[in-house]
Amino acid sequence: MNRVNVTRSSMPPIQEYFNEIEPLWESHWLTNAGAIHQKLENALKEYLGVENISLFVNGHSALEVLLGAYRLQSGEKNKIITTPFSFSSTTHAIVRSGFIPVFADIRLDDFTLDPVSVESLIDETVFAVLPVHVYGNLAGVDALQSIGEKYGAKVIYDAAHAFGVRKGDKSSASFGDASMFSFHATKVFNTIEGGAIVYKDPSLRKPLESLKNFGITSAESVEFVGGNAKMNEFCAAMGICNLKHVDEEIQKRAKVEARYRERLGSCDGIYMAPVQAGVASNHAYMPVLFEETFPFTRDDVYESLLRIGVASRKYFYPLINDYECYRGDYSSRQTPVAKYVADRILTLPMYADLGIETVDAICDCILG
Ligand SMILES: *Cc1c(COP(=O)(O)O)cnc(C)c1O
Repeated sequence: MNRVNVTRSSMPPIQEYFNEIEPLWESHWLTNAGAIHQKLENALKEYLGVENISLFVNGHSALEVLLGAYRLQSGEKNKIITTPFSFSSTTHAIVRSGFIPVFADIRLDDFTLDPVSVESLIDETVFAVLPVHVYGNLAGVDALQSIGEKYGAKVIYDAAHAFGVRKGDKSSASFGDASMFSFHATKVFNTIEGGAIVYKDPSLRKPLESLKNFGITSAESVEFVGGNAKMNEFCAAMGICNLKHVDEEIQKRAKVEARYRERLGSCDGIYMAPVQAGVASNHAYMPVLFEETFPFTRDDVYESLLRIGVASRKYFYPLINDYECYRGDYSSRQTPVAKYVADRILTLPMYADLGIETVDAICDCILG
């Protein structure tokens, strides 16, 4: 079998990309909110069903700029409740923008932040709750919204995994005060590198737009201490092309997931989170939990797959509250469900063009 990676970046037919970037040789306008950037913003507003969006060089910078903008107005409220079961970016953005993270536990149903755990930790020093839509599973958006309203905390989603996910007639971009999307090469929708913030309060526009461009607010005024986090025209062009194919890609991913579930779903010792009722997933990842009754451990399975040339990923392991840089202040002992999952989880190869025969070979290897 040829080497199989855990993911493979989506790319449009090359001619479509050529057509999109060709005008740049006329305009010589390569970055700083050019015509293609504007076109992608409009296309994304339409696709995600939002009024306010700001594009960024990557998802992490987007989140850091958003939180930085909020920190300017958060005063004494300096804590953000979040999940340790995420990519490093989520907590790093909180800390790097001057907030203090507080880790709540997750729930086994969908690996997202447990609203009960959030409510047990919230007090008047908490500025926001920052849940992650893990693997494209939506967090408990209704319960989290009620908690936010009850305690006067913002709800900000890390929606890096949730592009194209829908709940009934609502887009994943419609929940909370704001959401961050990542358009990294490995995500369901990519702009090579890129990201976006969607937000409800129009007054965020000024700080977001200027913080990503050195804090500049007009030709002769600089009102904020900003960095540089702008998306360029070549990345925006990739986004315009990929967006045209994303629904078809999601449908292909659904077929891959269906096959994995068929082969592994009823196997003793393998736990797969149930499909969320009323949610149309984007099938971003293929997480599988290897529990004690399975004859092999997660690490055994990871190694056997490597031996046949298949790369899986211990995602997310280790937990963020066990990272060297946060040790001493935090510990995974405080989040036992997240610890349980992180020690047993493996994400299997998942991408639109992954062949069913390859999925079968992977499952044969796992089942031994
Ligand atoms: C990918 C990812 C990010 C960061 O996005 P980049 O675009 O790579 O900067 C943040 N959070 C989660 C959960 C992610 O998966």
